[in-house]
Amino acid sequence: MTSNKPVVALQDILDYSYCPVKLWWRLGDTEIGIEDGPGRNNTGEQLVNQSIKNALNLYYYALKNSSGSKNDDGAITPLKSLMVVWKKWLAAWEVEELAPLLLEYHSIKKELLAQFGRSGKYKRNDGSLYKQPTWTRNWKQLATSTGLNNLQKNIDSRQQNAGLVALSNDFDVDQVDKPMGLADSFYTSLKIAEELKLPADSVVLGVQEPVVLDLPSVKVEFVADMIVSNGDKRRPGRPTADGEKDTFRSISYELHLFDDSIPAPISLARDLRVLGLGEAFPKNLELGDGNKGFVIKDVLIRHMQTNRTTTIVPSPGAGSLAIDSLARATLTGVQGGVYTARMVNGWRACGNCEYRPLCFTDAGVMELFNPPLTSRIEAGQELHNTIAEAIHNSNNPKSILNALRGFSRWLSKHPGIGDDQVMWVLESLAASLDEEAA
Ligand code: SF4
Repeated sequence: MTSNKPVVALQDILDYSYCPVKLWWRLGDTEIGIEDGPGRNNTGEQLVNQSIKNALNLYYYALKNSSGSKNDDGAITPLKSLMVVWKKWLAAWEVEELAPLLLEYHSIKKELLAQFGRSGKYKRNDGSLYKQPTWTRNWKQLATSTGLNNLQKNIDSRQQNAGLVALSNDFDVDQVDKPMGLADSFYTSLKIAEELKLPADSVVLGVQEPVVLDLPSVKVEFVADMIVSNGDKRRPGRPTADGEKDTFRSISYELHLFDDSIPAPISLARDLRVLGLGEAFPKNLELGDGNKGFVIKDVLIRHMQTNRTTTIVPSPGAGSLAIDSLARATLTGVQGGVYTARMVNGWRACGNCEYRPLCFTDAGVMELFNPPLTSRIEAGQELHNTIAEAIHNSNNPKSILNALRGFSRWLSKHPGIGDDQVMWVLESLAASLDEEAA
């Protein structure tokens, strides 16, 4: 029997919990595939994240399908895979001429940052390293004298081709908390790919694998950045029945974090993505005896900017209730068009949300788009179209309008009725119509 549970994406829950308007922007059009054209509402952080994910897919695909040596000069590397991704994106965005400028930007910035490293000459008075070298006076001088700032301005002035918000005329490259632009998204993704240390392809069972969490009232879908095999283990306990396998596959899930800094272990242990992975099963990957053929040993969190890893063993059931409740709240909010915006509390309330350039452009997202009102208008339009179509295809249009009036009266007598109860009534009606027709 197939389950009628609603399906929710974990990323939708996370974005909605942070700020409903964040999800509203993302539901617009921000996913970028390797072959895709410009797209809309992209952010620098998304380009970093997506370019690396695409590159890792390509990298492992190439390793698994390569017949030649993997260790000669033609070796397949994450960096080469990433360059393929960027090459295709720049072509799709029709800005291929930016390729040499992006490479030059990467090379100058890398060289300058090295001067703030252990063997560099720019350090604090006590000999320690700057945590944010690009916020220092020395950096400003170097970035100007080496032409890095001009290069960045030149590249970022074309970033609307990549679906990033266009820069305003008073854009200041020295602004410390400015949103990430095209130049820095390219630099950051290359830096990550250059330093990545990844599991051998022989133990990698899947990259970017869809997984499902089956909860009491919803199914939550998301993606495991990587699934790694720890080999087959013997089943403990009772002897196996005839035909039953006496081994199971031990797996580890990997979660790739692209944040600037590494979150504290206590916060990782409570992270919904980690808790979700602790109980999720792969949607498309066959690991043996159905979903019983494997056990999740742990979840490895890889911080991509530093390559540091943390391993967490989630306890069974941890987080299930919280994820289930948040998923229901997200569903109700989205269906009801409940899109409140953090930005009404001022710029600082939004923290480092990557949608700041979109929300704060011109008069601001509430004045320009008013997401709650827009979604109410869209829902009204959708309902109008559905009813108009039903009336158009009916021999007795008035009966449809009468039925809708009756339904509306019934709804008004049941304040607080949930969407699932309404759906149950409609499904029962559909079932009795099917029976009559049979
Ligand atoms: S910038 Fe602020 S209001 Fe806009 S999506 Fe982000 S958190 Fe929400």
